[in-house]
Amino acid sequence: ESLEYLLIIKGISKVYKKDNKEYKVLEDINFKIKKGEMIGIVGESGSGKSTLARQIIRLEKPTSGQVLLNNKDITNIKGKELKNIYKDMQMVFQDPIGSFDPRLTIGKSIDELLKNNKVPKNIRKEKIIELLKLVGLDKQYIDKYPRELSGGQRQRVAMGRAIVREPKVFLMDEPLSNLDAKLRVQMRVEISKLHQRLQTTIIYVTHDQTEAMTLGTRIVVMKDGIIQQVDTPQNLYDKPCNLFVAGFMGMPPMNFIDCKVVKSGADILLMFGSHSIKVPDSKAERLIALDAVDKEVVLGIRPEDIHDEQLFIESSPESVIDARINIYEMLGAEVYLYFTIDQFDITARVNARTTARPGDTVQFAFDLSKIHIFDKETEEILVS
Ligand code: ADP
Ligand code: MG
Repeated sequence: ESLEYLLIIKGISKVYKKDNKEYKVLEDINFKIKKGEMIGIVGESGSGKSTLARQIIRLEKPTSGQVLLNNKDITNIKGKELKNIYKDMQMVFQDPIGSFDPRLTIGKSIDELLKNNKVPKNIRKEKIIELLKLVGLDKQYIDKYPRELSGGQRQRVAMGRAIVREPKVFLMDEPLSNLDAKLRVQMRVEISKLHQRLQTTIIYVTHDQTEAMTLGTRIVVMKDGIIQQVDTPQNLYDKPCNLFVAGFMGMPPMNFIDCKVVKSGADILLMFGSHSIKVPDSKAERLIALDAVDKEVVLGIRPEDIHDEQLFIESSPESVIDARINIYEMLGAEVYLYFTIDQFDITARVNARTTARPGDTVQFAFDLSKIHIFDKETEEILVS
């Protein structure tokens, strides 16, 4: 297989045994990681992300399946050979306290690493300051001990120390989860810059879809130990393969409305409660081809594809719905309007200039070119 791929994950499964019971944590995982790529692994807590990460870098051995590093099967290697590959793989975990020697100051611990890397003594201090600066700490931290740092500060130092090693593969498992929101965004940008600068392969594990979207060149979306979709952030957003991915990626999440597909003359309609929406021709053709007429489906529409502006309402009269605003949330640059259509809770993300307020009945138009239609039973996408 092509050398374009640094890592190839082939049919990996992982079963843990506890009290004579078996727990299947990963099931038939397949994907490839290109050299220099920043790949995100995202999913809810407990979906198997960390377990998958541990198998990829061979901290654990998968129950079945293979891991190839540079086309070499590393699934069963051990001892010295395994130690050798660890030299090229560097991890940063959620809580890095265990990775610090409590007897060494921050400066000293980084100095040791630089020394191991054969960095000359006369420039090491300068390097340490530079590195601390890179992770947002000023030089007073050189003389501090790990216990004197907050969780977030330790995490930043851990990131800095990992950078020193210039690994071929960088695995970051929720490295920013102990940081406050502002610092998290700052570090996110730093990690992006770092990736651009080092051109190293980064596997980035997170439960936070925003973090995955902004960092990953490609993203693996996990649920219950099974990969749902592996794709670019843009494709996950625009062409989710099922209801889970559609609802997981994007904030506020995609709106979902249970509908029935009805054929009325030449038109295909989505009916729910007292409402009906005419499906645009190209999507209608697709629904007919898929034999979806009379089927129960889920209509998905993102908050930004619901408009309250007069211009939009006039130009798409076939998708206008009246709704009473329940909640108005001002976020500065935009406004979220919350309302209910039949029993479905809907969010619209509109221009901050909107005059709509709670209690008002407002007209909304759906941008029908942007709707997604899912099979209610299988939850798979029918039409995007
Ligand atoms: P995530 O990182 O997505 O939060 P994990 O990979 O840590 O998820 O865990 C996935 C599932 O596997 C959880 O239900 C967890 O309890 C279980 N699990 C993880 N490690 C072990 C283990 N060593 N023994 C038994 N069960 C485990
Ligand atoms: Mg985890």
